[in-house]
Amino acid sequence: MTSFQDFGLADPISRALKEENYLIPTPIQAQTIPLALAGRDVVGIAQTGTGKTAAFALPILHRILEHRVRPQPKACRVLVLSPTRELSSQILDSFNAYGRHIRLTSALVIGGVPMGRQVRSVMQGVEVMVATPGRLLDLVQSNGLKLNQVEFLVLDEADRMLDMGFINDIRKIVGKLPIKRQTLFFSATMPKDIAELAEAMLRDPAHVAVTPAASTVERITQRIIQVDFTAKPAVLAQLLKQEPVDRALVFTRTKHGADKVVKGLARAGIDANAIHGNKSQSQRERVLAAFRAGEIRTLVATDIAARGIDVDGISHVVNFDLPNIPETYVHRIGRTARAGADGVAISLIAGAEEMGYLRDIERLIRMAIPATDRRTGTVTQQAEVHHGGRPHRGNRQRGHGG
Ligand code: AMP
Repeated sequence: MTSFQDFGLADPISRALKEENYLIPTPIQAQTIPLALAGRDVVGIAQTGTGKTAAFALPILHRILEHRVRPQPKACRVLVLSPTRELSSQILDSFNAYGRHIRLTSALVIGGVPMGRQVRSVMQGVEVMVATPGRLLDLVQSNGLKLNQVEFLVLDEADRMLDMGFINDIRKIVGKLPIKRQTLFFSATMPKDIAELAEAMLRDPAHVAVTPAASTVERITQRIIQVDFTAKPAVLAQLLKQEPVDRALVFTRTKHGADKVVKGLARAGIDANAIHGNKSQSQRERVLAAFRAGEIRTLVATDIAARGIDVDGISHVVNFDLPNIPETYVHRIGRTARAGADGVAISLIAGAEEMGYLRDIERLIRMAIPATDRRTGTVTQQAEVHHGGRPHRGNRQRGHGG
């Protein structure tokens, strides 16, 4: 699949995708969407940052449109279970973004907010409900919600839900669902207990997987440079002048940050362009074409904007800010070293917060990233590889399920 057109998604969904600047399906989307549209149950191994949300949300939206019925009171057609409040609300935002032209009805059922409001939000019934398992069960047990109308069930980050002790809640919830339903099950890892849970919940599932995070990392030369926060622009400019750069992709966490970096580089005499969600489609395409053609050597991007960038020959990825989600780091640096080429990934790290993100990243990729002195370029700390154990998904402290 080379474009979203090939899936034959309903027109209002395709339009929303264009507006979101989704051009090329990610690998997990290319694999999952046709299967899910055909009505199959799917087990997917995929990390955050791979585009898995759209992989399940798009075919489900298409299918509820094929047979649009008014949801019954206190019921939902689509139930998505996720481990944390944050992830749940991101998933709901995605459904609402892709469903913006179809007047989707939806509700978020998560812990930490008053239950009364949630009871009211589902009173009329909704098409899509995204929930953390604990709060969902509370709502069901207090008769605020019934689960006998669910046609589509999604489990997202199943391994994290098990790690967080939601297994019994999940079993109870699944026990209340109709047998006849479509189930899509996603997990970053597939140890035995997760595979067994999937086995018990799914009907003749298709299996899909995207390359596990760690394997991409091995071909890339990674290093970190510890700097003062205020020195980052100068260090970046110096790096781009010193390093043998063919094409460099610089990541910032925010759109505003990307624009600031471009201005800072301009002051240091380095031409760079920013690409992010505030730019129009035609602006993006122009900048990307110039980057591809080698007319622009340095592109500054946010994570979301970088999803659609499919450019070979990126010699350097520079993390101006470290991402707080470790999988995002892997995704970023995977932009270099494509098609068997070598690549260099350099991260600028300032302050305790970014040191914390670094530790999460090192745990995920199971290696320590060497630090270099920014003036001499010599390695000041030797790389070591940690063996064994299950990789931690280090972002679990960020949220609590409800
Ligand atoms: P996820 O792994 O579902 O959390 O998605 C990661 C990010 O990628 C989200 O910000 C999505 O909006 C974005 N995204 C997902 N699929 C695509 C795509 N095909 N093209 C561009 N951006 C995408």
